[in-house]
Amino acid sequence: MDGFAGLYCVNVGYGRTEVAEAISRQAFRLAYYHSYAAHTTDELAILSDRLVKVAPGKMSKVFYGMSGSDANETQAKLVWYYNNLPGKPTKKKIISRERGYHGCSVRLDDGDELLSRPHGSAAPADLHTGVPHHYWGANPGESERDFSSRRAEELDQLIERLGPDNVGAFIGEPVLGTGGITPPPEGYWGAIQAVLKKHDVLLIADEIITGFGRTGSMFGSQHYSIEPDLITIAKGLTSAYFPLSAAIVGEKVYKVLEDGADKVGAFSHGYTYSGHPIGAAAANAVLNIVEKEDLPGNAREVGAFFQAQLKEKFAQLPIVGEVRGVGLMGAIEFVTDRDRKRRFDPTLKVGARISEAARERGLIARAMPHGDILGFAPPLVTTKAEVEEIVGIAESAVRFVMDELTQDGLNI
Ligand code: PLP
Repeated sequence: MDGFAGLYCVNVGYGRTEVAEAISRQAFRLAYYHSYAAHTTDELAILSDRLVKVAPGKMSKVFYGMSGSDANETQAKLVWYYNNLPGKPTKKKIISRERGYHGCSVRLDDGDELLSRPHGSAAPADLHTGVPHHYWGANPGESERDFSSRRAEELDQLIERLGPDNVGAFIGEPVLGTGGITPPPEGYWGAIQAVLKKHDVLLIADEIITGFGRTGSMFGSQHYSIEPDLITIAKGLTSAYFPLSAAIVGEKVYKVLEDGADKVGAFSHGYTYSGHPIGAAAANAVLNIVEKEDLPGNAREVGAFFQAQLKEKFAQLPIVGEVRGVGLMGAIEFVTDRDRKRRFDPTLKVGARISEAARERGLIARAMPHGDILGFAPPLVTTKAEVEEIVGIAESAVRFVMDELTQDGLNI
């Protein structure tokens, strides 16, 4: 039982013959043509039109890539180019959040210090703002709303410190994914967007995990009333049946690009495989399933059951600090001391052991990197009966490791 949809991507589930057939059909019809200099293919044109219509806000154009990482770098280049045009050439820095994850190519804008430490990062540390995780970040007694306001004030101060004329964009996942499957605290996105508007800073919504239904809305931005200028998608776009990603460009940004291209030259960008027709055919077939089977609706309904089951089975266990999630993504965070919020000694590898025990029992659930966290993101076609199976196996795995810890003399 795959409780993580591969890497939160096989949203329509495995073995969907209609997607395989669309891929095969396209490979026979026209296996490749490029999308440089106003060329395109029919499947790609259809897909672009659908994406612009289905995405939140006023979107205008789509740049395609092969991975989430390259699509986010496309966004960075768009931000730099956008600010060159109105004559703000210094407005180029991109702020991300601690524990944010936006890919692992050159990681211009990545806040995931844990993952980038081994090789170092091109991004100076002052480009990262605080992680929106109330459980670990709030002061004693601080409400979610007050915590969100504090995070927004910190962002405001960071932009002031860097100089608003030097800050081009803010990038964030509507729900932190790799950073621990952490939904934003109440009021967070409203408070953050007010700061970005004040300083004329673009918002890039990294919807690579949350796009196409995972939160229970088609996009995480709709779920949290986010109004992005640029949206990054990958994973669920083709349900990983073919590597395809995209940077969706909002009207506000595109208008500036269009009006000013003759002043500084056209936006020079594209890969040989950008907008690959087989990927486009796969994405159209996947979108058909997402729409026909109302997968956002399933994620909302089955997701509510899933969240309730997680809370019911795990929230009271002595080694569980927090159970959290939204739609069909969720996490259980394990601690050694619930009252004082103390983490386990990392050498005990509690999260990894629980994930391993789950796998031995037939369930893939992921040990997340930022602590002892068991993460879930099952396909969006998951049923309530399958949720019961996932939660049942996870409970057996957690109780097994909890017993081991007790036998080892750990006072929990
Ligand atoms: N952004 C987010 C939110 C992700 O979760 C990921 C991958 O997990 C990426 C970007 C990078 O995507 P890729 O691995 O396709 O380069």
